Amino acid sequence: MTTDRFPTATDILVIGGGVMGTSTAYFLATMTDQSVTLLEKSQLASGSTGDSSAILRHHYGDESIYTEMAWWSHQFFKAFDEELDAALSYASSPLVRFAEEGTTAGDYAQAGYEALRDRDIPVSAYTDEDIPEQYPMFEVDGRYDLAVSDDSAAYADGTDAALGFANGARAAGADIITGVEVTSLEAEDGQITGVRTDQGDLACETVVVAAGPWTSRLADTIDIDVPITPVREQVVLLDPPAAYAESYPSLTPTTSFPGGEWYIRPDFGDGVLVATHRHTEATDPDTYDNTPDEETILELVEAFADHVPELADAGIKGQYCGVYSTTPDHDFIIDQAGPEGCYLCCGFSGHGFKHGPAVGKLTADLVLEGESDLADLAYFSLERFDDDPAGNGLPADNI
Ligand SMILES: Cc1cc2nc3c(=O)[nH]c(=O)nc-3n(C[C@H](O)[C@H](O)[C@H](O)COP(=O)(O)OP(=O)(O)OC[C@H]3O[C@@H](n4cnc5c(N)ncnc54)[C@H](O)[C@@H]3O)c2cc1C
Repeated sequence: MTTDRFPTATDILVIGGGVMGTSTAYFLATMTDQSVTLLEKSQLASGSTGDSSAILRHHYGDESIYTEMAWWSHQFFKAFDEELDAALSYASSPLVRFAEEGTTAGDYAQAGYEALRDRDIPVSAYTDEDIPEQYPMFEVDGRYDLAVSDDSAAYADGTDAALGFANGARAAGADIITGVEVTSLEAEDGQITGVRTDQGDLACETVVVAAGPWTSRLADTIDIDVPITPVREQVVLLDPPAAYAESYPSLTPTTSFPGGEWYIRPDFGDGVLVATHRHTEATDPDTYDNTPDEETILELVEAFADHVPELADAGIKGQYCGVYSTTPDHDFIIDQAGPEGCYLCCGFSGHGFKHGPAVGKLTADLVLEGESDLADLAYFSLERFDDDPAGNGLPADNI
């Protein structure tokens, strides 16, 4: 066990030291005088958060609930150093969506364009005439006649974010304890009474389960069914040749191509990150293979070279895999569920990082006030799956 002492009781317990647990602990600690404790079984950011590509975009088609949460969160991330006295690696990188007008992807790109424009979030649209000049590194001429650029998109770093939120939470009085695994939730007469851990029991009447892909297992200990499938995604870091970097100093915008189920973004230190976004490969978050499959690397590199021919021979300078917590509709679960005092903050389906600050605030509002004016909590309810196992339904394009 590291850092703060292990208490036998707390008012509010947060389980999980990823971006969501630490953000929630931060907002709780700043909003209430009740004692707040966070337990993390391993190290902070050792789950999905540490593997995150940490893209901060605002374009979400017509799902403007996410546009607004992402924008709110992005302003928080920009002020991160000041708010939390902690550094956050951060780089601007416009995110562009290519599409053909009149297709589902085209409608999605257009809907997002309008959502951003209506909220004064910087956005540009290009037609087939402008695309080759605007994006000379991409072989997209004749393939797409619409490109929508989320101009103020950026990317950051998951580990920095979780460590920063933990820092802020501690400064506001929370106990952040790593190396302690919660083994079960405990409830009596419809009320949370505490948790069991591998270091002993801890009494509490409020628990927030923010345990990423492990959340369903913990919820299962008090018979709450949480429909999350942990899925493995694969990431490759390419090393662009010097001549390419000279021609294109920003390397590439962040982008994905319609139907590709993969995306690219520039990386800190002059790399280009290429990653799958498939939601298909169910896995075990404890035992998944952290090395991308040879076959997938070949597929990615081939698809990538087809769109960025000048990088066809780029070397590979890094590779790893990470795990998404995928819900049937790829929407989040932020809800009170089961016994009184039990809250779920999970199911971020591969697009949670950018919402980390808003999710922490929403969850703290839910716990302390039962409601929030930051976003419509009904959209993230667990009950939506009772009405329809497909929940809110899949969006047209979720990359
Ligand atoms: C490869 C990859 C790329 C991604 N790219 C993006 C992106 O570009 N933009 C974006 O917005 N999102 C992205 N995401 C998604 C984003 O990273 C996640 O939505 C977010 O990090 C989820 O955070 P979390 O805190 O819910 O989960 P996690 O980071 O998994 O945190 C859960 C924590 O709970 C701990 N824990 C689990 N069980 C217990 C227990 N029993 N007791 C104590 N502790 C426990 C775990 O050790 C872990 O640290 C990406 C994810 C991956 C994997």
